Amino acid sequence: MIIGSHLDSVPNGGWLDGALGVMAGFEALRMFKDRRPPVTIKVVDWADEEGARFGRSLLGSSAAAGALDVSEVAHLADKTGTRLVDALKENGVDLARMHEAQAFLKAIDARAYLELHIEQGPVLEALNKPTGVVLGTFGVERHLLRFTGQAAHSGSTPIPMRRDAFLAAAESALAFRDIAIRHTTPAARVVCTVGTVKTEPGIVTAVPGVCEISLDQRALDAAVLAEMLDDARAAAAAAAKSNNVTVEWKRIWQIDPRPFDPRLIQLCSEAVREVTGDAPLLPSGPLHDAAEMVPHMPVVMMFAYSSNGLSHCKEEDTPEPHLEKTITAFLRLVEKTVTSA
Ligand SMILES: [Zn+2]
Repeated sequence: MIIGSHLDSVPNGGWLDGALGVMAGFEALRMFKDRRPPVTIKVVDWADEEGARFGRSLLGSSAAAGALDVSEVAHLADKTGTRLVDALKENGVDLARMHEAQAFLKAIDARAYLELHIEQGPVLEALNKPTGVVLGTFGVERHLLRFTGQAAHSGSTPIPMRRDAFLAAAESALAFRDIAIRHTTPAARVVCTVGTVKTEPGIVTAVPGVCEISLDQRALDAAVLAEMLDDARAAAAAAAKSNNVTVEWKRIWQIDPRPFDPRLIQLCSEAVREVTGDAPLLPSGPLHDAAEMVPHMPVVMMFAYSSNGLSHCKEEDTPEPHLEKTITAFLRLVEKTVTSA
């Protein structure tokens, strides 16, 4: 069995992200200092989970999972121009040989992968629960939409005669919010976000002739995510038509949902309920190393409450009684997993 997390962080990050999971792994090993566990337990500190320096997240775990394309990262460099391949070499790692970690993972033939992490969001706090059971990591569809109308003088062009690209984008953004609300059920929350907007010519006295927005959609269910994307395409087309503009889509990034193992979710729920009295189930918005392990073995994650929902900043924290309960629940999950593996 493998317990994994990461010790790397982001600039000005907090004290729990990643590190909590590695420390919980050591704590799990300590449980067995005087007795032999029924199966071997390995603790892994994955390299470069955050991708904060070179922009590629999950570097170590994707190499072990066989999902790292060396040609895609070979050209990456940090802000000072240092190349990823050279930074790795300084630390005794040969990028071209990183995929060999795959053979190591295969040889372990692990029956389960467990990861404890802080939630990094506000859901457990809103429920006033110290600990949550994670159902999987969201799939993501990320696109850039370019609406094209006609730039025109803002004083001389009557409203009905305009081809305003921004208004089409704005109507689409409102529709995307409704799509997220429509597809959210009590058991499955989904999200749609328009995070960037750019208009041309971008001056106060012109009707925007071009408007570009980003759309980031996330869901745990692949069929729901596909439906959300279809709905968004239809909504953008309708908004474009009613504003007499055109719209083009460009995919920026996509990743499939990674649902966790039902039996381990069950064990995790039991462990959390025994310690905290309740076992809230929630998906993970952020990606984690656990997602890379999903194709290879049964996986589950446990979340600890994040104060004010904050992470990747100095304010990141979890109240001590909540931490204690969560680690106790995690050790219980380890115990249940090794005895049932
Ligand atoms: Zn993390």
